[in-house]
Amino acid sequence: MEKIRTRYAPSPTGKMHVGNLRSALYEFLIAKHAGGDFMLRIEDTDQERFVDGAIEIIYRTLAKTGLVHDEGPDKDGGYGPYVQSERMKTGIYMKYAKELIDKGEAYYCFCDKERLASLKTEVVEGKEISVYDKHCLGLSKEEVQANLDAGKPFVIRQNIPGEGSTTFHDELYGDITVENSELDDMILIKSDGFPTYNFANVVDDHTMNITHVVRGNEYLSSSPKYERLYNAFGWQVPTYIHLPLITDENHKKLAKRSGHSSFEDLLEQGFVSEAIINYIALLGWSPEDNREIFSLQELIENFDYRRISKSPAVFDIVKLRWMNGEYIKAMEFDIFYGMAEPYLRSALPGDFDLKKIAAMVKTRIEVFPDIAEMVDFFRELPEYDVAMYTHKKMKTDAVSSLEVLREVLPILEAQEDYSNDALYQALSAYVEQKGCKNGYVMWPIRTAVSGKQMTPAGATEIMEILGKEESLRRIRKGIELLQNA
Ligand code: GLU
Repeated sequence: MEKIRTRYAPSPTGKMHVGNLRSALYEFLIAKHAGGDFMLRIEDTDQERFVDGAIEIIYRTLAKTGLVHDEGPDKDGGYGPYVQSERMKTGIYMKYAKELIDKGEAYYCFCDKERLASLKTEVVEGKEISVYDKHCLGLSKEEVQANLDAGKPFVIRQNIPGEGSTTFHDELYGDITVENSELDDMILIKSDGFPTYNFANVVDDHTMNITHVVRGNEYLSSSPKYERLYNAFGWQVPTYIHLPLITDENHKKLAKRSGHSSFEDLLEQGFVSEAIINYIALLGWSPEDNREIFSLQELIENFDYRRISKSPAVFDIVKLRWMNGEYIKAMEFDIFYGMAEPYLRSALPGDFDLKKIAAMVKTRIEVFPDIAEMVDFFRELPEYDVAMYTHKKMKTDAVSSLEVLREVLPILEAQEDYSNDALYQALSAYVEQKGCKNGYVMWPIRTAVSGKQMTPAGATEIMEILGKEESLRRIRKGIELLQNA
């Protein structure tokens, strides 16, 4: 069996969007599932769209996500160069374009801007495009040569017959047939000598022995033209897998302005790389059982591209947050602490036992920025409403709370050891003596020391962090508040 070879072929035009990362991930998984090779190819033929720093983002993202490429610009595997602008310099695209011209499958076009602008336009998928009228196909060999000798600028176009139809196969969409009259004579080589994506992807995928091509389904409509190029050369067409659109919660294409459309945006928002990859794997693909949590290694083992769905995948940030929380819970503490520390430090400047606080929040947050709101009460007691002392299940209200706080105050004043265990013991003795439930005592204390309805820990753990002086100050404040209520 031939070796599976896949490629991730980004254009360095900016951030790495979720859709691009999904293509990369699926290409990686297809290759690794079958023990094949995953290759990185940089598609920089559109020099106008080139963005400085974009290549670094691609490398950073692949390294961070663990999508390690076997070959690429930085790892020669014998199929280089791996950057299209460098491949161009080898003359490879021109050589193949000329081969097509010799076969009558392509032709030189010398039409200038003015003439092209005067051509009739057609509306295709909401966009107005001009349809080339094959004017230059009618030039004689001598006329073409004379133009070339005179140094007239030219492009090379694919020659698509006006009759007949073209069929190509996609693994998800099946056989798709289009009338040739609907296909335009697309440009293969531009006037600056660069190939278009439309031409380069075919030449490169073939010459780099690519077996499976995964890409967004915006390329579906061009695929018959690629099919014709493969056939014209007599090359084997790779297996095509066109992926469904990724939409936002409103079923609109996931837009940049959504704020979570790129990998680095998500990292910045406190998501962990493993959770992002896990989540993205499920944007269009699902395993046979409804399992949802997969490490990259488990994805490699379980990934079957035949189970990719054609229906649009909804990017659900709530679901991603949940998944991220699962990864945070499962994380080793030291790794978690390394990631949480900057958030803790900025929320709690000063002298706090951040490790202890980190342990409290670890099982409760979904993303790291959740930390700030969860721990801010340690720094400063917030203003709170006395209504918070009332808790039906704990059977507490303002009157019972005032009584409890007044009674525990001398106990807490006398208490020297403010460790969680010692405080718990002291208060348990009081609970026992009073003959009430634990919550009846702990609820008002926790409310008084935190000023919050929800806290990442119980009353005594909070007091351990606050220390004696601050804990007592807050209990007294609670008494005062309840007295005035
Ligand atoms: N350079 C194209 C892009 O970034 C790649 C499409 C493909 O994978 O063939 O959209």
